[in-house]
Amino acid sequence: MNDFDSARLLDPPAFPADRVAGLADRLAALIGSSGDVLLIQAEAVVALEAIAASLGRPGLKAINIVTSPYGVWFGRWLRRAGASVVEIRAEAARPVSARAVAATLDAHPDAKLLAVVYAESASGIRNPIDAILPLARERGLLTVVDAVASLGGHAFAAEAMGADVVAIGPQKALAGPAGISAVAVSERAWSHIDRPDAPHTSTLSLVDQKRLWLDAGRGALPGTPAPLELWALAAALDRVEAEGMDSIVNRHAEAAAAARDGLHALGLTPWVSAVEASHLVTTFAVPADVNTELLLERLRACDPEFSLGVGPGAERLIRLNHTGRRADPAVVHAMISALASALNR
Ligand SMILES: *Cc1c(COP(=O)(O)O)cnc(C)c1O
Repeated sequence: MNDFDSARLLDPPAFPADRVAGLADRLAALIGSSGDVLLIQAEAVVALEAIAASLGRPGLKAINIVTSPYGVWFGRWLRRAGASVVEIRAEAARPVSARAVAATLDAHPDAKLLAVVYAESASGIRNPIDAILPLARERGLLTVVDAVASLGGHAFAAEAMGADVVAIGPQKALAGPAGISAVAVSERAWSHIDRPDAPHTSTLSLVDQKRLWLDAGRGALPGTPAPLELWALAAALDRVEAEGMDSIVNRHAEAAAAARDGLHALGLTPWVSAVEASHLVTTFAVPADVNTELLLERLRACDPEFSLGVGPGAERLIRLNHTGRRADPAVVHAMISALASALNR
């Protein structure tokens, strides 16, 4: 906050309409998609709701993997759109297993869609999508991946991994603005989205985005363009491209490894193994003899980014946030020091 001057945000120039498509193309490269990338002028959870509202329909059976509240909401939105939803739930706050997914897919050969969150910021876990997505694609299902907390934190390549529809947001590992997000849509996904009964005249309609933006030559975004968000996204992409995606992913992987090492050194055990863990947040279960509220209060006095996990089974986890600019050895070191002194008292 020290040298932040909010008055500088006033009176921004309009974002040039001929540069908007370039933002989408740059995101497509980061996502590893050769399909279309739609820009949603809202936070990423709206992009997820738009995907569910646009893909869900009566007669569609969907397999929805639930490992956090995001998955719960996604299933709710699919049902609201008329779809029947089969849920796969892992043990509370744990990743789902590919074996459980295969069994559910085999039990529901009429399912047409599979939805999964890759890395979870809610609990610090990561679902094994390298194993899950091929299972769905082999059976001809369309795949939806919430990569909001993954892009920039983990190697990600939508097309190569078999992800048809991908939601991303710039505000996590990419350290960009929170008020704009994106949906990548593969070529084959459009036939599921662009149907005569698809919702339209709605901010949640991906078909509207197609008609009003893609088919109209990808100039200014439909509705009122938000120049602050667009400029901030452009600046974030400049910084991401200058650093390079591989080194951003490495920086997050190293921050996660340092956080895990630090927990071990304090005699604490990370909530999940390294292969099951997100690189954006590291979590541990508060030891039974420690008062969680008191510990969190002391930690937050040092760094307000300490927080409890979100969702069933995650409420007793404390999250160390090393996302975006915080994926930095000095930040991780400071968090571990704060934890050491809070536990000592
Ligand atoms: C943060 C997050 C979202 C929601 O993103 P917002 O931009 O905060 O709406 C969705 N899914 C996952 C996995 C996230 O971590």
